[in-house]
Amino acid sequence: MTPTCGAVPAGRKLRDAFGRELHYLRLSVTDRCNFRCVYCLPQGCPSHQAGTPLSRAEIGRLVRALAGLGFWKVRLTGGEPTLRADVCEVVREIAATPGIRRVGLTTNGYRLATIARELREAGLTTINVSVDSLDPERFYRITGTRLLDRVVAGIEAALSAGIAVKVNAVLLQGMDDAELGRFLAWTRTEPLTVRFIELMETGDNGALFRQARLPASEIRDKLERLGWTRLPRDAGDGPAVNYGHPAHAGKAGLISAYSGGFCDSCNRLRVTSAGDLKLCLFGNQMVPLRPLLQTDAGEAALMDRIESAVTAKPRAHELAVGRCGPTANLAMTGG
Ligand code: SAM
Repeated sequence: MTPTCGAVPAGRKLRDAFGRELHYLRLSVTDRCNFRCVYCLPQGCPSHQAGTPLSRAEIGRLVRALAGLGFWKVRLTGGEPTLRADVCEVVREIAATPGIRRVGLTTNGYRLATIARELREAGLTTINVSVDSLDPERFYRITGTRLLDRVVAGIEAALSAGIAVKVNAVLLQGMDDAELGRFLAWTRTEPLTVRFIELMETGDNGALFRQARLPASEIRDKLERLGWTRLPRDAGDGPAVNYGHPAHAGKAGLISAYSGGFCDSCNRLRVTSAGDLKLCLFGNQMVPLRPLLQTDAGEAALMDRIESAVTAKPRAHELAVGRCGPTANLAMTGG
C-alpha cells in the first residue's frame, strides 16, 4: 500500500472544460540535470533553460493555493530534482501542507542511496526512479553515466526506507527479451512496479525517435505471452496500464502516450521550475504564476488565475500527428 502524508483533503475541486477533475501537480524544481540521456539531453544540460528555480517559499505558496483548489498529490521532477540541495526541505514543506496526501519524486536515483531515509522522514510517499537498462554498458550508452550500481543501491535504500518505488524504463530498440527478462526478474521478489514508457517525440529528438522508438504494444504482447494479466485501475491512477503475475511480488506497467484515449484520464497540471503553469506537457500555453508567488497576499489571485487558466486545458496532446509543441526536451518543463 502506498503510504500517505496523513493530512485531510480539501473540499473544493478544480475541473477542466472536459469534466476532468484535476488534483495532481507535477512540479519541476530545477531545470538542471546531470545525466545525458540520448532522448533528452545527449549534449548535457544547457545552462538555465527555464530561468531561476522557484524558492522554497514560492513553492510553499503555490502548493497551498493548489491544495485550496482540491489538489492532494504532488510529484517533484526536473531536470534532476535531487540536484537541489534543499530537496528534502522542499518535500517537508509540501508534505506538511494541509490537504496534501501524497508527495512523490521522479529521479535518476544518483543521490538516492544517501538521502532516501531523509526523504521518507520529510514525508515522501512514492518515488519513480528512471532505469532504462539493467545492463551496465547499455545503461551507459543511454544515460552517458556509469552509475547503474549506485542507482540500484538507491532503489534498495528507498524500499527499505518504506517508500513505494516505481522504476521507469523508456522503450528503445535494444530492449530485447534478455533486457525485459532482467526487469521482470526484479519484480519477482521486490514489491516494485517497472513501467515501460513509450519514447515521446520532442523538439530535439526527432531523428532518434524515428530510428529507435519501440512501441509499447510489443512489450504488452510479450507480457501477455509470459502470463501477465491486466490489473483493474485504481481511482486516481494516471495513464499507466498495470499488469500482475501470480509468481511476482511486483507489477509491470505500460505508458503508451501514442495510444488513443491516453489523455482521457489526465488529472494533472504542471508548473515549470521558473513558475510557469503548463496545461499540457506538449501544449503551447504557459501561464506565468511567479508574480503571484512573491507574498502570501497573492494567494486568492493565484487561485483565480489557475482556475481561469484551466478552462483552456486541451483535450489531448497532438503527438500522434507529430506536433510536440515548444518542448525541446522533457528536462526543460519537467517530465
Ligand atoms: N531526472 C529525473 C529522471 O531521470 O527521472 C526527472 C526528469 S526526467 C525528464 C523524467 C522522466 O521522463 C524520466 O523517466 C525520463 O526517462 C523520461 N523522459 C525524458 N524524455 C523522454 C521522452 N522523450 N520520452 C519518454 N520519456 C522521457
